Amino acid sequence: MSKVWFITGASRGFGVLMAKDALARGDSVAATARNPQAVIDAIGAHPNLLALRLDVTQEAAAVLAARAAVDRFGRIDVLVNNAGYGLLGAVEEASDAEVRALYDTNVFGLLNVTRAVLPHMRRQGGGHVMNISSVGGYTAHAGWGVYGSTKFAVEGISEAMAEEVRPLGIHVTVVEPGYFRTEFLEGNSLVSTDARLDDYAGTVGAMRTFAASVSLKQPGDPRKLSLAILKLADSAQPPVRLMLGSDTVRMVREKNRFVEQELGEWISLSLSTDHDDVLPQAA
Ligand code: NDP
Repeated sequence: MSKVWFITGASRGFGVLMAKDALARGDSVAATARNPQAVIDAIGAHPNLLALRLDVTQEAAAVLAARAAVDRFGRIDVLVNNAGYGLLGAVEEASDAEVRALYDTNVFGLLNVTRAVLPHMRRQGGGHVMNISSVGGYTAHAGWGVYGSTKFAVEGISEAMAEEVRPLGIHVTVVEPGYFRTEFLEGNSLVSTDARLDDYAGTVGAMRTFAASVSLKQPGDPRKLSLAILKLADSAQPPVRLMLGSDTVRMVREKNRFVEQELGEWISLSLSTDHDDVLPQAA
């Protein structure tokens, strides 16, 4: 059965590849971007492609775009909340304006589009929401604190939503890519904080140097990510989380081990705070 996709941020990177691969196997795609001509330029005209203007920070535009997709294709089977960008800098270096702009796209934008599409999925009685998070949404590192926090928000939203919409026949998966070879770390995507404080040279400065050195040489292959997303869409029992990339798998395992170890070290204090009338729980 062919599927109808609604993809945000389909002018570059993952969004373009997912749209192309879905079209190539006979699916239909509403591919959205701030500049819809950029979508056509990147993907090429196709009878099953609907290129739509959507800045995800604009809630009314999200409602119109979702309706236009349903008017054209009759339904939306897969929503890929993919639009997003990175902010590199120490937590203290990030200005209020830089933080708010990032949340407007990565968190509030994702919520705008989700609220616009879910009514159609509920009416259909099915669908699959895929929220593109990051390994930085599972484990945080110097320089990526604010960016990571937007993706931590996406993780929490996704986990809760998965429980809320499962009884309605709708799946939610939060996808955690590691470092993939798109323009994500280039100047047209990645924002660096205006402020740079010398005290962070050894931590955040080192991460800036690392990010510049690894850009366009990242281990992750975006085409393989795109094909993995197609497989995910075909799964009858999709996971709540999907980690993509060997770097993600390594970092997630490191974090899980660290959390378990720290939990063990502090377990007596952790278990010491219940009321005395609460029977001890098996921990
Ligand atoms: P790119 O920078 O190549 O593409 C980002 C896309 O998001 C562009 O199409 C861009 O559109 C769009 N976008 C940005 N802001 C908005 C907005 N306000 N409204 C609509 N579209 C917007 O990056 P990737 O393809 O690599 O990234 C896609 C997603 O994957 C992002 O959410 C990113 O955080 C996540 N990710 C990427 C990783 C990587 O290593 N590549 C790793 C982990 C997560 P425009 O052309 O208009 O700027």
